Parts: sequence; C-alpha cells; structure tokens
Amino acid sequence: MDIPNPELVEALLRWYAANRRDLPWRRQRDPYAIWVAEVMLQQTRVETAISYYERFLTRFPNVHELAAAPLEEVLKAWEGLGYYARARHLHRAARLLVEKYGGEFPQTFKEWRRLPGVGPYIAAAVLSIAFGQDLPAIDGNAIRVLARLAAMEEDPRRPAGRQRLQTLAEQLLPSGRAGDFNQALMDLGATLCTPKAPRCSECPIQMFCAAFRQGKPEAFPVRTPRRRLPHYDVTAGIIQDGDRVLIAQRPPQGMLGGLWEFPGGKVEPGEGLEDCLKRELQEELGIEVKVEEPVMTIRHTYTHMRITLHVFRCRWIGGTPQPIGCADVRWVPIAELERYPFPNTDRKIVERLRRESHEA
Ligand code: SF4
Repeated sequence: MDIPNPELVEALLRWYAANRRDLPWRRQRDPYAIWVAEVMLQQTRVETAISYYERFLTRFPNVHELAAAPLEEVLKAWEGLGYYARARHLHRAARLLVEKYGGEFPQTFKEWRRLPGVGPYIAAAVLSIAFGQDLPAIDGNAIRVLARLAAMEEDPRRPAGRQRLQTLAEQLLPSGRAGDFNQALMDLGATLCTPKAPRCSECPIQMFCAAFRQGKPEAFPVRTPRRRLPHYDVTAGIIQDGDRVLIAQRPPQGMLGGLWEFPGGKVEPGEGLEDCLKRELQEELGIEVKVEEPVMTIRHTYTHMRITLHVFRCRWIGGTPQPIGCADVRWVPIAELERYPFPNTDRKIVERLRRESHEA
C-alpha cells in the first residue's frame, strides 16, 4: 500500500465531520470524562457503556469525587460491566491524581502510562482527544480498518503486526487533528468497516483500501489460531440462616478483587463437587456444612479461562464463619444483597434468591 496519503486522511476526516456518532463523552473535552469513557469501552460495547457512563458521571462527576469515594461504592457503580480491575485501577489512579497532581491531569504520555490501568491506547486517546496531542490511539475498530487498508499479512495481536499498525497510524496521522483522526477510524470501524459484511460501497476510503481491491476485506485482520482457553469447575454454596445468607468478600488484589461472592472455590483434580465445596468452606471460612441439593449451574468465559460454577444449597452445621481465606464475611438479609457488588456469575444467584424470597 502507498502510504501516507493525504487524500485518504482528508476523505476520512470529511466523512467523520458528517457522520460522527453523537456519544455522551464527545460532548465536551473534559479529560476526566474521556478517561472514564475510554476505560469503560476497553471491554464493553458502546451501547452498553452509555448508561453506565452516565450514571457513573452523575455519581462521580470529577476526579475529586471519585478519589474520595470508598472502593466498594465504585465497584457497585461498575457492577455488571465486568472486568472489575478496571474500576479498581480507575479509583486508585484518581487517588494518585489528587494526591500527586492536586486533581489536575498530566499532559505527557509518560505520566499517563504511570497511572494504574492506563495502557498505551488510553493514554493516547485521552491526550489526543482532550489535549489535541499528535498521538495515534488504536482501538479494536481502528485495528480492523488499518489492517484492511494495508491488507496486512501480520496478525495485529502479535508484536510485529502491532508495530506495523503503529507505524502506519503514525504516518497517516494529520498533525493538529489527531483527536478527530483517531475517532474517525474508530467510527468507521464501528459503523461501516465492521468485522462481518463491511459496507465497502459506502466507505469514504474505499479507493485506498488494499483489502477491498483484493476482494476479501473480511479476511483481515489476519488471525493466527489462539490456544483453547482452559476450563475449570468451581463450586459455590448458598448457606442460609433464616432470611440471611452468608457471603464472602474476595481479597482486594487479584481477579475480581474486592467483590462479594457466595463462598466456594475451584475443584481440584480427582475431587468431587461436594467434597470440594466442603473443603473450600472449611479452608476459607472455617465452617462445616452439609452439602444439600444442587441449585443451578452457571457457565462463564473470562479472557483467560472458562468456568462452570456449580451452586449448591448447604446446611451450616458447625464453626463460626471467619475471613480466613477472604477479606471479609457477612450474614446479609436477602433483601439487602442488592447493596453489595457481585461478579456477574454471583449476581445470577442473588437474582435467584430474590425471586425465591418473593415467591415464598
Ligand atoms: Fe473497510 Fe471496506 Fe472501507 Fe476497506 S473499503 S476500509 S474493508 S469498509
């Protein structure tokens, strides 16, 4: 592909001026709002993120309010979005910004990259969109458009492919208009240059597109096969005492850190589900239970693994619940479970218990 091509960039920017998506975080250039939106959009679709974004900005309208809030409240506002490390990082970064910068936002790539949870994409997106800096911000949509434009043979998830995309974006980037350029690529990828059935006939840069010329845009970006995600069986117990149920808080660090869950854990090789649950409850909370009937089975895929969660009703027969392998443990009335942040899998259990208590 012949690049850079100023005509391509002009055609793209003209199209963007006429077709840009009206998204709430685009209505101002507040770095805080843009940062929050970009963090949410990392693993969440735009349509889903909008309502979360609006509620989050109403509750935490600026970096000072976010920094002052307890983590649990931030996690609660994030509940349902998944990938909770994003919320924990956002909160930690807000505190750092207030402590170190008096709540002002840094204006260098290096400083942004030092904030928790800020990778090259978020740093470049905030700096280009809020501060007009000449930095390419390449999200999943932009990756697809660029890889197709160049009919790139490398897999963009691999370092060589990633580097080639970065170089291509840098070469195309129009000085002083990086924010619009980045968002134009994102919007083109989201609306016309979609993963399946791209609408090339409506595309403003079709005449520059190598994948279109080859007649196979959907073949790009090239994907080398990924290894299959490992699968684990996990158990969880519903332990009731009257209308109260026992929940445990995960340690603050690590996966789903700080969220609440129905206690249990991963099945070890050769172990039965019920034995696993008894062992986990003993190790994690120091209690003895009798495992009774199965209640539900929940399947869930994370970025790095798949799980099947087997949920059982249990009868508490001995020991006082203590936070041995968790951060906290509480008996909570079913009607109050709503106040606690749970991962998506455990929210399904909460919904089930609430339904049952309404029917009773
Ligand atoms: Fe994407 Fe088609 Fe436009 Fe190429 S011509 S950038 S494949 S929409």
